[in-house]
Amino acid sequence: MNKKHILVVGGGISGITTTVEIAEVGHNVTLVEKLPYLGGKVAQVNQYFPKLCPPYCGLEINFKRIKQNPRITLYTSSTVESISGSKGNFSVKIKKSPEYINDNCTACGDCSEVCPEERPNLFNYDLDKTKAVYMPHEMAFPWKYSIDDKYCKKESCNKCADVCKYDAVNLNAEEEQFEINVHSVVFATGWKPYDASKLETLGYDKYPNIITNVIMERTAAKNGPYSGEIKRPSDNKIPKTVAFVQCAGSRDENHLPYCSAVCCSASLKQALYINELYPETKIKIFYIDLRISGRNEDFLQKVQKRENIEMIKGKVAMINELSETNNLILEAEDIMSGRKVKEEVEMAVLATGIVPINPSISQLSIDEFGFLENIQEDGIYAAGCSKKPLDVSSSLKDATGMALKAIQ
Ligand SMILES: Cc1cc2nc3c(=O)[nH]c(=O)nc-3n(C[C@H](O)[C@H](O)[C@H](O)COP(=O)(O)OP(=O)(O)OC[C@H]3O[C@@H](n4cnc5c(N)ncnc54)[C@H](O)[C@@H]3O)c2cc1C
Repeated sequence: MNKKHILVVGGGISGITTTVEIAEVGHNVTLVEKLPYLGGKVAQVNQYFPKLCPPYCGLEINFKRIKQNPRITLYTSSTVESISGSKGNFSVKIKKSPEYINDNCTACGDCSEVCPEERPNLFNYDLDKTKAVYMPHEMAFPWKYSIDDKYCKKESCNKCADVCKYDAVNLNAEEEQFEINVHSVVFATGWKPYDASKLETLGYDKYPNIITNVIMERTAAKNGPYSGEIKRPSDNKIPKTVAFVQCAGSRDENHLPYCSAVCCSASLKQALYINELYPETKIKIFYIDLRISGRNEDFLQKVQKRENIEMIKGKVAMINELSETNNLILEAEDIMSGRKVKEEVEMAVLATGIVPINPSISQLSIDEFGFLENIQEDGIYAAGCSKKPLDVSSSLKDATGMALKAIQ
């Protein structure tokens, strides 16, 4: 076999899938991930549809495949700076952030215990804090601590290096830059949530009890800031009424003109796990139309049968707050009855959409919404949500297809 070397950029579920598929048929792969751990957004969900299992059901097996495969080279905390050359012979510049903690780390946690500095916990969307030397999350791969450059006082403190028994901490580590040569490149740089503060009439910036769908995932997660309890931010009370606001910014010419494909299923899933945890909590889902396909349709039927979950066909136009209670008043049009409705709830979840992440590489081709496009004739491909909004199972199919194209 004519062995090839392929670069995959982005270590979410799509990049991981492309990587293992390529390596397991015998080619070499370099996987570059900008964060200190793999898994992307899937690692942050509480449970994932359609089976409602924890995200690690799918990720862990892939981490094992990566660990066991000598044809995979993994660079975390790294980005691609530039690509030159052409199909079959690309030269790629990679930048790796300083590796303050090396692979000797056993994750014993002594460093974090003595660390005096704190940082916002990005994994939990800043809902809580970690030490400046931190484990990204409890199932992180690679399973080792990281240091946040912005908050660590380095050698003027040195407590983590002093306490480490395994010689794993080097506070003098420096950024590295190096080049590799590859035959083709797959970008799987994924997505970020739409900025809810741009939705002025929905009050996200003004009222504490309005959260977004991605924050709901971390709020509900057992390894999240509230250890699996769903609390509203203003007073840490378990909400007795929750509203979901579908298409918050999506299918709207002023924000995201496209449908993000996963928000309806994500809200149904979230309504279901709130209902399972707190059956007395009344949930209302305001939607334009429910866009659910494939196996997720069973899921819709399950939710529709639940007492205390109501679906209201109508777009929420405005959210205001009652200042004495911090409760929210949602104004919407109930399309089925033709009436304007005002609904008071204790917490609201904005189902914000998927915005592609652009890795800023000049050769990339980008569509009108910012999603990456395949440029097959140039040997550069896009996989998963970097190309269009997709759920996990569709991302896996796309990522496998891109593995084949990259090899060919
Ligand atoms: C609220 C919500 C809940 C969801 N729940 C579900 C669910 O239950 N079930 C389901 O099937 N789907 C769900 N989804 C969809 C799911 O999150 C996506 O299908 C999945 O994240 C796609 O994976 P990806 O690898 O394409 O992208 P991502 O998960 O975004 O991964 C991209 C990776 O690339 C890295 N990266 C980005 N830029 C660079 C760069 N320049 N250099 C190097 N690395 C980079 C990122 O750090 C990240 O690790 C949900 C979506 C939302 C909004």
